Amino acid sequence: MQYRQIFEDAIGNLKTEKRYRVFADVERNAERFPHAVWRDEQGTEHDITIWCSNDYLGMGVNPEVIAAMKSAAARHGAGAGGTRNISGTSHPLVKLEAELADLHAKESALVFTSGWISNLAAISTVADLLPNCLILSDALNHNSMIEGIRRSKAERQIWRHNDVAHLEELLAAQPRERAKLIVFESLYSMDGDISPIKEICDLAEKYNAMTYIDEVHAVAMYGARGGGVAEREGQMHRLDIIEGTLAKGFGVIGGYIAASAAICDAVRSYAPSFIFTTALPPAVADAAAQSVRLAKSRPDLRMAHQRQAWLTKHALMKAGLPVLPNPSHIVPVMVRDAQLCKAASDMLMTRHGIYIQPINYPTVSRGAERLRITPTPYHGDAHIAHLVESLVDVWTTLGIPFVEQQDVEAPFANDAQCTYPALATRRAAE
Ligand SMILES: *Cc1c(COP(=O)(O)O)cnc(C)c1O
Repeated sequence: MQYRQIFEDAIGNLKTEKRYRVFADVERNAERFPHAVWRDEQGTEHDITIWCSNDYLGMGVNPEVIAAMKSAAARHGAGAGGTRNISGTSHPLVKLEAELADLHAKESALVFTSGWISNLAAISTVADLLPNCLILSDALNHNSMIEGIRRSKAERQIWRHNDVAHLEELLAAQPRERAKLIVFESLYSMDGDISPIKEICDLAEKYNAMTYIDEVHAVAMYGARGGGVAEREGQMHRLDIIEGTLAKGFGVIGGYIAASAAICDAVRSYAPSFIFTTALPPAVADAAAQSVRLAKSRPDLRMAHQRQAWLTKHALMKAGLPVLPNPSHIVPVMVRDAQLCKAASDMLMTRHGIYIQPINYPTVSRGAERLRITPTPYHGDAHIAHLVESLVDVWTTLGIPFVEQQDVEAPFANDAQCTYPALATRRAAE
């Protein structure tokens, strides 16, 4: 058995298919976010601007969040010291779960080591506790939800992405008394499209189904207090289980569900991926709780985020770059070719100091390769101008097709409409 050869061949296959991934060596700078240092293969350092972070609001570099983490680490130490079954729940985690239950107006919340694990644990456990459950899953659900569905013993059916008529067809074919779990996301992070939450909740009521929503790309960013798209649309109370991450909009690490006390208690008691793994450190819990508290009271930060995202989209469209239109903060720029996508990303980094990771198969389907741009409130108007110039240069140099220029008026074009001008212009002045 040629053990080594097997792994080298596996890597070789990825390289042949042009989907071997290279991770940039990046050092974030908390004081100069979204600037960072990139070390190339020779170890030479370059100043770059990050345009592909899921720390959407810059909460990970927020001084109050960092201070909470430092002070909790000094008081409680670096680690949790064990699973919650072995060592109990650290008090910072108790407080964090209370903040999260309050954020989503649910009886209870349960924190996991990541969002990925929270989907795996909660979906599989809930579906297995429901007798003869049928899981109805949106076709574009995230890998962690699919893993949760696979892990359960329940039957599953896939409904066409965001197609409520198809979902209704599948629901109507089932006996009313059968247990059903509808599993979907609020904001799909590759195309940036938003699901019809109200219509899905209507169907769940009509056909007696439970609902499970992943709000990972929406918590902290949508809703009056950052409770997500369901909060914005007044639907939070109609969803049985809301899942979120503490790692993206909240800028730290960890995942959670918010639901009834009975559901949280059942998942806590039955899910192996909750029971048999060490809890999050108290310092992480305190930092995350501080971030959640901040998000609740910072609609200005959400406004600044939306403003910079819209300005980015409209500036790119005006330059004839192929932006995929959507109603969210995600800015997908389509390349539709794996090799060109990688080449564009490399050229942006080496020639312009702009970091945008290429998104290739299997994260998106073949032919849907793209640059996925995520502006934050800290990407000032000057950053946006530099991004547009650089993308136009790369598109021209590599011969990637432009589209018709679109002069759409941005809803946030006027500074007076932005209640958060300080950040938007502060970084631009640097
Ligand atoms: C990133 C992501 C997760 C996983 O969250 P982590 O906290 O990063 O593990 C879950 N669902 C969706 C839709 C995601 O994009």
